[in-house]
Amino acid sequence: MANEDPALIERAKRARRIVRNPSQYKVCHGCDSIVAAKVSICPNCHGYRFEQEEALVVQQAHILSRRQQHSVVAEDLL
Ligand SMILES: [Zn+2]
Repeated sequence: MANEDPALIERAKRARRIVRNPSQYKVCHGCDSIVAAKVSICPNCHGYRFEQEEALVVQQAHILSRRQQHSVVAEDLL
């Protein structure tokens, strides 16, 4: 689609990458963002507790991509 926001497409690609390789990522307990498995401190909230269960990383990737779509819809209505 020509009207799609390039940033949104980039986020969707990133979500797919996470879903394909969940072992390379983990979910921050502090802010629910997905970060690389190799980091020891969350770059967003500086938390140090993470969930590394692959099924939960995949689930969180889906939740985050849905949330981003909602925010785009809200902006479109303004
Ligand atoms: Zn965090």
